[in-house]
Amino acid sequence: MDLLKLKKNKLHINNIKLEKILKKRQTPFYLYSLNQIRQNVKYINSSFKNFSPLICYAVKANSNLSILKELKKNNLGADVVSVGELKLALKAGIKPNKIVFSGVGKTDEEIKFAIKKNILSINAESTNEITLINDISKKLKKITNIGVRINPDIKAKTNRKIATGNKVNKFGISISEFLNVIKNKNKFQNIKISLLSVHIGSQIKDIKVYKKVLSLISKILIKLKNLKHIINCIDLGGGMGIPYFKHDKKFDFKKFGLEISKFYQKERIKIIFEIGRFITGNSGHIISKVIYVKKIKDRIFIIIDTGMNDMARSAIYDAFHEIIPLHKSTKKFSKKVEFVGPICESSDTFGVYKNYSILKEGDYVCITNCGAYGRTLSSNYNMRPLIEEVILNNKKIKTVRLRQKIEDLI
Ligand SMILES: *Cc1c(COP(=O)(O)O)cnc(C)c1O
Repeated sequence: MDLLKLKKNKLHINNIKLEKILKKRQTPFYLYSLNQIRQNVKYINSSFKNFSPLICYAVKANSNLSILKELKKNNLGADVVSVGELKLALKAGIKPNKIVFSGVGKTDEEIKFAIKKNILSINAESTNEITLINDISKKLKKITNIGVRINPDIKAKTNRKIATGNKVNKFGISISEFLNVIKNKNKFQNIKISLLSVHIGSQIKDIKVYKKVLSLISKILIKLKNLKHIINCIDLGGGMGIPYFKHDKKFDFKKFGLEISKFYQKERIKIIFEIGRFITGNSGHIISKVIYVKKIKDRIFIIIDTGMNDMARSAIYDAFHEIIPLHKSTKKFSKKVEFVGPICESSDTFGVYKNYSILKEGDYVCITNCGAYGRTLSSNYNMRPLIEEVILNNKKIKTVRLRQKIEDLI
């Protein structure tokens, strides 16, 4: 259930009027609800209670340190894709034995650091990388636990820019190549391949593709048995989609949990997930001010102070994030309105609405569901400072990251 709600035409979160949080704060800013995050984690855990997996939070979705600390308190591990994210996860107090490291382009330095920290698994994405991890481990006189990410050649129905499990995508190793590595494992004396991982993409709503993945993994497990190779963990990745607007389709998490449970009953193997969006997506929003209401013949542009540099998802993925006024007027605009940012790009747009409630210059709006891939995708384009981040914990309001200063960018 979403904690962001309109009550008597005023927008609330955690039962606090958003107008109250505005006080003296410079817009735009990110606002996160820790309560929402806790609720999401609880919901995920309840769907998975039959097999209690390790949930590694995908740090790239939102790498705010206060959020990572909260997730650590809730017993989550981390899925990282760079040494920077790895250091951040450790800084949040997440134990190395709960961290997996994914990514197609890990460098020598990154691999060396991960080996020295004894993380749960470095998930390799090519035979070249497996060879490199083995060589570095040998130099460090270590045996390193690794995972291999399989490219299952399964198309997930999602935006093509966030699909990762097709054979033409750069991610993972084909099944035949993986089995070849296992057949030749004597060449790799300093690694132990103990995990198999799959991540087919993001913002997936249909559990059918996950069912395909599960049956494929079962087949691979039989082949591994025949080769007398034992792995002890399956990492099923992330990708569970969230609704971005009122009647958007939902991902059936309960049903998903039942499918995984069936797989677990059959295979009896430890399961890991790498979940990002579903944990933080609906916990974060951007509060923004209307700078201009610009009328042209065909429509009305609502020019807000948030740009694609602060929230890139609309520009990159054509993603729709519902925008809600902090104080909703009962009167409506008669023309179409389009929300746009101040950036000098036509893709700096946040959607077109009909019959939108009237807004004036100086009014405030909320861009909803920006808690995943919001701040982490933002940039300094147009010499704009990264914006403030504010956290709500019950009724407590706290700035956890200050807005950058223009002087610091020079
Ligand atoms: C991004 C990513 C995830 C998380 O995906 P979500 O859609 O945010 O759940 C998990 N695993 C890997 C390898 C990723 O790159």
